Amino acid sequence: MLMVVCDGVSDRPVKQFDSKTPLQAARKPAMDAIARNGISGIMDVIAPGVVPGSDTAHLALFGYNPYEVYTGRGPIEAAGASIPLRKGDVAFRCNFATSGDGAHVTDRRAGRISCGTADLARALSGMKIEDVEVIFKEGSEHRAVLVLRGPGLDHRVSEVDPHSEGEILQSKALSPSAEKTARLLNEFVRMSHETLSDHKVNKDREKQGLPMADIVLPRGAGSVGEIEPMPDRYGLKCAGVAGVTLVKGLCRIVGMDVIDVPGATGGLDTDYMAKAEAALRCLETHDLVFLNVKAPDIAGHDGDFRLKVRVIESVDMMLGRVLKDLHEEVVIALTADHSTPISVKDHSADPVPVTVSGADSRVDSVRKYDEISAAAGALGRIRGTDLLPIMMGMANRSAKFGA
Ligand code: ZN
Ligand code: ZN
Repeated sequence: MLMVVCDGVSDRPVKQFDSKTPLQAARKPAMDAIARNGISGIMDVIAPGVVPGSDTAHLALFGYNPYEVYTGRGPIEAAGASIPLRKGDVAFRCNFATSGDGAHVTDRRAGRISCGTADLARALSGMKIEDVEVIFKEGSEHRAVLVLRGPGLDHRVSEVDPHSEGEILQSKALSPSAEKTARLLNEFVRMSHETLSDHKVNKDREKQGLPMADIVLPRGAGSVGEIEPMPDRYGLKCAGVAGVTLVKGLCRIVGMDVIDVPGATGGLDTDYMAKAEAALRCLETHDLVFLNVKAPDIAGHDGDFRLKVRVIESVDMMLGRVLKDLHEEVVIALTADHSTPISVKDHSADPVPVTVSGADSRVDSVRKYDEISAAAGALGRIRGTDLLPIMMGMANRSAKFGA
């Protein structure tokens, strides 16, 4: 089985472009071939009217109820950064930022610092605050991950990051059992400023007239709950092919083998063909391969119709490569994790088109993969958590219920 998620590809009609959606405007023979050979429908990835984040949406596509297993983005970022989390850990996603006085933030991204963050992170990681251990690791550019490990922690704390320039917030407990976590988090922020202000990397930046990365702003607190890994839950060996850290982290959390593809950046410059080859290789050794392409979402956030059409055509070439060598027995699903309409420049609650095809699958009258054509198909309107069971049913991988 192969599940292809074109991140944010789903859209709304745009007046200036003939009232078409980018999917309707693009030339995409491979996507249309999948639609022509199978059944299509539209999908509320979480539920009607709910605007999905990429994280909660992917959990739903992997068959989990995000309301049960999702506590915050921190743990997913930590998994993406290859920090193995334990039960009781609280994880945060962080920015290196510029403060100066330790109370205000003047640049939330420290001038999009790209050099020296590993050194800065090493200065913070391994610190002890009371009886709690600090694990800290740099991410791409100004991003980083913080994990607090020790007794009596609770992720229900408010954010430190003010999400704009201005006063740095004090974290507060949102539940009585989170008092300790809030106190330690505030102490960590204070210590990060104390440690980083005098760090050589920042002294050098100061000399060069660059904004210092002299404080860490944590947000998105979460802890890992009990997620039954996909191999146990479905009896499937699963692999994930993705470029972005967030999606890689999600794949790791649900027990997929995450394949590192050189050139798969999660950006507009990603190596589509390398991803196609990687997915094909994984299908030889795994029962379910998940393939995410991030670029359509980026074009949606930019509000750039022409760019989104171009990206869709690149993704289609990748799919053409996949289809060329795809064994005809393999059930393939093509969908999105949410809509990112050009007119909204953010995610929306609009359902996404979905199409599923396999060797002996039913075939409906849908000829094209887009939001409007798919709505007329035989799959009807489903939820994100329905997709994997439908694929398993078509692949004869579902167990009989009853005698
Ligand atoms: Zn997404
Ligand atoms: Zn997005």
